[in-house]
Amino acid sequence: MVANRSRVELARLREEFRARADQAFDQMFGSDGQNGLVTFTEREDRACEATDRLARWLMEEHLALDPAADPGVEVDCPICGRPVRYDSPEEAELEIREFHTRRGQVEYERAARRCPHCRKIFFPVGCASESGDGRLQSAAAGED
Ligand SMILES: [Zn+2]
Repeated sequence: MVANRSRVELARLREEFRARADQAFDQMFGSDGQNGLVTFTEREDRACEATDRLARWLMEEHLALDPAADPGVEVDCPICGRPVRYDSPEEAELEIREFHTRRGQVEYERAARRCPHCRKIFFPVGCASESGDGRLQSAAAGED
């Protein structure tokens, strides 16, 4: 389940994406249409760097939609199954996680919960979860 972002927030995100895409274009073409790139390897390296940077930004922004990143959402304790709810998001401890992706390192902030019944700290499972090697995986089976 993915939390919805407001239209205003999405419009702001779209503008930021376009500005970043413009930067990627300029890194490739510059003002002379070539930006000092001569060999195929130079062109490939520059194109991959620019688009990898865009891909990482897209992943980070999309991960921010993950319900696990929202400390205000009520979740069930994975140990006792009882609901855990914080009256204010400030009660939740935020942890920054780093993930290795095919496009490089991305960061993801998620909120920890402490169950008042069994006193354990846990991280809710959202759309994205991580495997033992720190790579992001989809929580849905069969999805890549
Ligand atoms: Zn519990």
